[in-house]
Amino acid sequence: MSHFYESFHPNNYNIYLDINRATKTITGKTIIRGEALASSISIHQKYLDIKSVLVDNQAAIFKMRDEAILLPDVKTGDIEVIIEYSAKLTDSMMGIYPSYYEVDGEKKQLIGTQFETTFARQAFPSVDEPAAKATFDLAIKFDEHPGETIIANMPEIRVEDGVHYFETTVKMSTYLVAFAFGEMLSKYTTTESGVKIGVFATKAHQAKELDFGLDIAKRSIEFYEDFYQTPYPLPHSWQLALPDFSAGAMENWGLVTYREAYLLIDPDNTSLSTKQLVSTVISHELAHQWFGDLVTMKWWDNLWLNESFANMMEYVAIDALEPDWKIWESFQTSEAPAALQRDAIDGVQSVHVQVEDPAEIDSLFDGAIVYAKGARMLVMVRALIGDDALRKGLKNYFASHQFGNATGADLWAALGETSGMDIGRIMQSWLEQPGYPVVNAKVVDGKLTISQSQFFIGENEPKARQWQIPLNSNYAEAPAIFADTETTLGNYQQLRSQNGAPFRLNVGNNSHFIVKYDEKLLADIIEHVDELDSISQLQLLQDLRLLAEGGQISYATVVPLLGHFITSPSNIVNSALYSLANDLKKFVTPNSVAEQQLQAFFNKMSDNQVNRLGWLPVDGETNDDQLTRPYVLNATLYAENQKSIEMAHQIYQNNADKVADLPADVRVFILKNEIKNYGNRDLVNQMLTAYRQTADASYKSDLRVAVTSTQDADLIKQIVTEFKNAETIKPQDLRAWFRGILANSHGEQAAWDWIRNDWDWLEKTVGGDMEFTTYITVIAGIFKTPTRLKEFKYFFWPMLETPGLKREITMDLKVIESRVNLIAAEQVAVNQAVEAQIK
Ligand SMILES: [Zn+2]
Repeated sequence: MSHFYESFHPNNYNIYLDINRATKTITGKTIIRGEALASSISIHQKYLDIKSVLVDNQAAIFKMRDEAILLPDVKTGDIEVIIEYSAKLTDSMMGIYPSYYEVDGEKKQLIGTQFETTFARQAFPSVDEPAAKATFDLAIKFDEHPGETIIANMPEIRVEDGVHYFETTVKMSTYLVAFAFGEMLSKYTTTESGVKIGVFATKAHQAKELDFGLDIAKRSIEFYEDFYQTPYPLPHSWQLALPDFSAGAMENWGLVTYREAYLLIDPDNTSLSTKQLVSTVISHELAHQWFGDLVTMKWWDNLWLNESFANMMEYVAIDALEPDWKIWESFQTSEAPAALQRDAIDGVQSVHVQVEDPAEIDSLFDGAIVYAKGARMLVMVRALIGDDALRKGLKNYFASHQFGNATGADLWAALGETSGMDIGRIMQSWLEQPGYPVVNAKVVDGKLTISQSQFFIGENEPKARQWQIPLNSNYAEAPAIFADTETTLGNYQQLRSQNGAPFRLNVGNNSHFIVKYDEKLLADIIEHVDELDSISQLQLLQDLRLLAEGGQISYATVVPLLGHFITSPSNIVNSALYSLANDLKKFVTPNSVAEQQLQAFFNKMSDNQVNRLGWLPVDGETNDDQLTRPYVLNATLYAENQKSIEMAHQIYQNNADKVADLPADVRVFILKNEIKNYGNRDLVNQMLTAYRQTADASYKSDLRVAVTSTQDADLIKQIVTEFKNAETIKPQDLRAWFRGILANSHGEQAAWDWIRNDWDWLEKTVGGDMEFTTYITVIAGIFKTPTRLKEFKYFFWPMLETPGLKREITMDLKVIESRVNLIAAEQVAVNQAVEAQIK
């Protein structure tokens, strides 16, 4: 498929928009100046009602095509195209769209934009491709009331007859254009280099909620200016929280938009993990201001270049800004397992993937691959070449491609030059191939041997893929890069005594592979497990979990090992421990003896930690203690520990009139316990009302988790009827509600019935954007019986040819199927292993 940019190069867009919220209409006039390279050119549009097209002030012949205006007969060379049109203002969270909120019971709107991936064409006609960079002059009029403001990529220069004019932008891609208007709170500061930083939100929020984001944004911009050795290229960097937002955040140049949950923080009551999350989201978007915005991928197949890089840099930046947080540990509990889990399923996309159709472009945004796995690839590169070569290489990369476009090869060339390594060759095997290897380490005939093969969870067709693996062994005898199928490192006994420590691979867990040690090697590691740092302990548990998921070892052999980790004070070890323990839940049926035994096991694992940490945060406690508490409280409640249930109830009772003020770190468990063990219709309604009224995103999320855990069939029915009521559940939050009910064994049937009956409505409401397929992912994450597998297939199979859904449906079938098979094969052994632990 050819791209429109091949025949037409826009240089400047003069965009006039008149937006009327009351009538929900947009009237527009776009003047595009550019160079026609052929006599037939095309310009993107979608849902635009075109009134007239002039080329060089002459009425032009045009034909409407799918998402395009075709001009079959223009002169080549410099031309000016003027297009007048109108469009509808819709609630799709794409293009130009309203966000809804309430202040003191009064309903209000904030208009914002979302143009990535291909939604700029819904706002103005354009060559809507990342390589078609141009400058933009925005002029916007709207049904303005006193007290409203408008912001955009660049500063406003004047207002004339109610039209707001903005400074001409630098050369940029269409998908990064943004503006917003309405009543807004704002706070400003300035970086050392003079960049104006601002945070904006609706007046449903308190001004103090803007402070945290403002500080992180300012320091992130300062950090990147130094790290990249390249100045921030615009006069300002605005951060705007939108009440309705489909993705997490969007890196529009100079005007980054966020979900409210990812920008606004109540400084008086926010958990450390939420602060960490919000910080990394902000630093991710601001990393893009250079990597993505200043230099942009040439086409969507190189989306990974943007996202993988920003996903690594968010950790590099926050580690520099808040060293006490040890944020790279969070990388190990979030990005690493997400990538390893999804990338093990046959049919997964590679990081670099060919793509043309707009619906397929949206489906590229696979968080576990393009973000998490891609970030691991770059972490691997960073570990290989070091920060000096990385920074010098980036500086050169920005200098040669600024205000233009690049591909992965351009980045490897820049990094290769400063590091003296053939990075492109090493990375080829990781970027172009889906999946990753398991390295088998074993002692064969007295010799230490390693081999690699692709690791799978579920049914697969092996393709004999091989990788260039940075091994990072603690034994110098292991090669730095392992590219063969198999190799022998030498006599094991000799190596063991020379090195004085158990043999290990992937030390630091920076490379994207897992290790299967044979019994002898694993026993050696376990014997010395207390000497391992937290990341190594986490890695051991993560790898064992994956090997068990892939059927390479039995969960039953892993269960007895868990006891080694239950006293760990490290939050990331606890994260891995409970992630593995929670996986055992699939082997028990509700209200069975096996479930009671598993609960007893959870009690045994968590009891000492619950007693050590207590239910409420303590002044001056370590970050690890703060972050560990949620894991053990969750475990003790699953265990139905009577003391814990009563304690949580007591705390709730004592604070019934100020529930929102309960410490944010533990509030969700207190609310959930109350609904589950002491709940009734009144309490559910009370929490639903609080949910509707609060503007605090983290409190909202806690209330959702609590309400969806009710076991009452009638209440579940009532909650499900709220799914389509945007006054209670915003479309942006619906997936989390749906998941909550579906994951509740008492609600599974109701949620599953709902999505099947209301699929058309769902598609109309949230379809067509990059988050849509994740509804299917969510279902596949939960189903575990042969019946559900059959129903899933029956329902989704006919949608296989719907653009953008094929990969997701095919993979998710494998996900459910492998879980069903694993349960059938191991249920008895796993439950016996658990029983043995509680004796
Ligand atoms: Zn991003």
